[in-house]
Amino acid sequence: MADRTRDPDCLFCRIVAGDIPSEQIHADDLVVGIRDIQPKAPTHVLFLSREHIPSAAEMTDHDGPLLGRLFAAAADFARAAGIAENGYRLVTNIGTWGGQTVPHFHVHMLGGRSMSWPPG
Ligand code: AMP
Ligand code: ZN
Repeated sequence: MADRTRDPDCLFCRIVAGDIPSEQIHADDLVVGIRDIQPKAPTHVLFLSREHIPSAAEMTDHDGPLLGRLFAAAADFARAAGIAENGYRLVTNIGTWGGQTVPHFHVHMLGGRSMSWPPG
């Protein structure tokens, strides 16, 4: 497994560490939730792993607790934000063609409007 210690050059490692300000909507020992700085929907938040994991492509069997926690935290937030009933989208981009711009694992939550499919 690649080294997952904090990368001082990684934007999301710096946000998790509190070195760069963010609007935090969730925090526990595995996951941090923040509002996206350029929201693409009325509700657009990001759930980040505390560890520096470059993308979902680096997940292993040992990441079950992280992923379970992340999806549970996301569902809790959706209910609290009032978007659970109508539904919402969770998405994680991987690599250049996947549209990933920050190489630190995160899941987008987009809600508050209807989503189209397939994505562009
Ligand atoms: P992705 O392109 O899937 O890697 O997602 C990265 C997301 O991070 C984008 O939606 C950006 O708008 C968002 N983002 C970039 N910088 C910040 C920041 N300082 N605080 C919050 N969100 C950010
Ligand atoms: Zn990082």
